[in-house]
Amino acid sequence: MAEKPSTKKSEIQIVWFKKDLRITDHMPVYKASKIPIPTLMLYIVETDYWSKPFANRRHWCFIHDSLEDLALDLATHKQQLVIKIGSAIQVFKDLHLKYEIVQIFAHEECGNRWTYDRDIEVRKWFLKNHIDFKEFPSNGVVRGLKDRNEWSKIRNSRMQEQLIPTPNNITAFKAEIGSPIPSKKDNIFLNNFSGIVQKGGRRQALKIINSFLKIRGKNYLYNISKPGKSEYTCSRISPHLTWGTISTKELINMTKDKAKNLDENESKIWKKNISALNSRLTWRCHFIQKLESQPSIEFQCMHSYYEKLRDKQLNSNFYSAWKNGLTGYPFVDACMRSLNYNGWINFRMRAMLVSFASYDLWLDWRKIGYHLAQMFTDYEPGIHYSQLQMQSGVTGINTLRIYNPIKQSYDQDPKGEFIKKWVHELENVPEAWIHEPWKMSDGTQKKSKCYIGIDYPYKIVDHSEAVKDAKSRFSKIIKKEGFNQKAKKIFSKLGSRSRKRDNLPNKQLSLF
Ligand SMILES: Cc1cc2nc3c(=O)[nH]c(=O)nc-3n(C[C@H](O)[C@H](O)[C@H](O)COP(=O)(O)OP(=O)(O)OC[C@H]3O[C@@H](n4cnc5c(N)ncnc54)[C@H](O)[C@@H]3O)c2cc1C
Repeated sequence: MAEKPSTKKSEIQIVWFKKDLRITDHMPVYKASKIPIPTLMLYIVETDYWSKPFANRRHWCFIHDSLEDLALDLATHKQQLVIKIGSAIQVFKDLHLKYEIVQIFAHEECGNRWTYDRDIEVRKWFLKNHIDFKEFPSNGVVRGLKDRNEWSKIRNSRMQEQLIPTPNNITAFKAEIGSPIPSKKDNIFLNNFSGIVQKGGRRQALKIINSFLKIRGKNYLYNISKPGKSEYTCSRISPHLTWGTISTKELINMTKDKAKNLDENESKIWKKNISALNSRLTWRCHFIQKLESQPSIEFQCMHSYYEKLRDKQLNSNFYSAWKNGLTGYPFVDACMRSLNYNGWINFRMRAMLVSFASYDLWLDWRKIGYHLAQMFTDYEPGIHYSQLQMQSGVTGINTLRIYNPIKQSYDQDPKGEFIKKWVHELENVPEAWIHEPWKMSDGTQKKSKCYIGIDYPYKIVDHSEAVKDAKSRFSKIIKKEGFNQKAKKIFSKLGSRSRKRDNLPNKQLSLF
């Protein structure tokens, strides 16, 4: 008599890769390796995500490189990376029809509302289907943090732990066939960019950080705010941290090794650069923690008194001029055009672009944030929304910082070389006028082959007037009853304990 086919599904466990595209210092991979159940290494291209206003093909190009590297690394451990395309919940449902999913390992994700809602949905479904969802902390972000005063202690002790070893033996599961990694040109990725993308992948992460710690980082602090130079002397590790080809802890360990092996001549200069980099890695966790502790900061002003400060209706002429680098302020336009093309610009210039949009053009941070999110290869929601709110003055706990685009231009690009590289309309304008071309006489405009208002826009607003107006609107709000009590509560939940980065109450105004 023929044997009855067995209906019992084979047991598997899954490592679900999200923004952690590596196998080194990777707790989910490590934990899965300790259990002798066949392990499916899964990455899901979530199509709905890629239609959202913060997502851009540029991010995908970086992820694409990183998945290729991840697949190679898994192959050396006789594992394959399985790519699925669709919604996460549907992918898990389909897999569960074929296999008995025992457990799923993943890092906790602190992303935007979209990923937060997706995690709630899949968690519910896992629970209903008795699938154990084992999540592990990401970097220095503490889930369920009760007391903000405890954060730094927890984060620092985590960063001092040993790196999690890369397992040699993972019980392979090769029966499931995935899709090929969607190409960089695939139509899934709706929002486009024109320009270049920093190369992704684990190998590139190691290469870039080694070159920083060997040579490039020597002038890190000196050039940190100079566009045109900082591209080379900053670490440029940000997209790798965002998409997880390297962990923060690995990076901190590398800087410790560097510091240990310095000779006397190098010591002074390198120590301060390494220490500055480490501070920024702490800020990174600090800002992501803000979003983890209060997810609403993606959509709502931290201080609710600022909620109606700027018009909800977008001034589309101002927005379009800002986004396309056509404001008539050469340095602002050069920075935006460079960002749009390269997918990166240094911290101070990001802050200046937001300051100009917020104080000079009075645009709401929620509207401008999407363009920047799409352009930044390193788009990291926790840093992004916290910084947007800080630089547009709506946290209630930070000093208002209004950047003067003309002063920044003289300070950071005195000869106008960066401006001329990106704003070709001004390439023949003499150095004396490059920062304020609207002051050129008719004769100079003719000689420079650049008529202001025709070849290049006249300044869109007057900066001094705009700042005067902005300050008066802010001071009215700060004086309102209850403002400070509310600010104190925000500080207690989200404020930094280690530096004067967050101030209370918000009375000061600093002009850069
Ligand atoms: C409005 C605005 C939006 C921003 N959005 C993002 C974002 O989406 N993703 C992002 O990674 N950074 C963001 N930043 C922070 C910062 O500009 C970038 O991290 C930095 O320019 C990346 O370049 P780098 O890797 O060469 O930095 P480095 O100066 O070499 O610093 C090393 C790392 O430290 C972290 N870091 C550096 N500066 C900061 C900072 N101010 N706050 C928090 N972490 C920091 C980053 O992970 C960075 O990769 C934003 C800043 C502003 C003002």
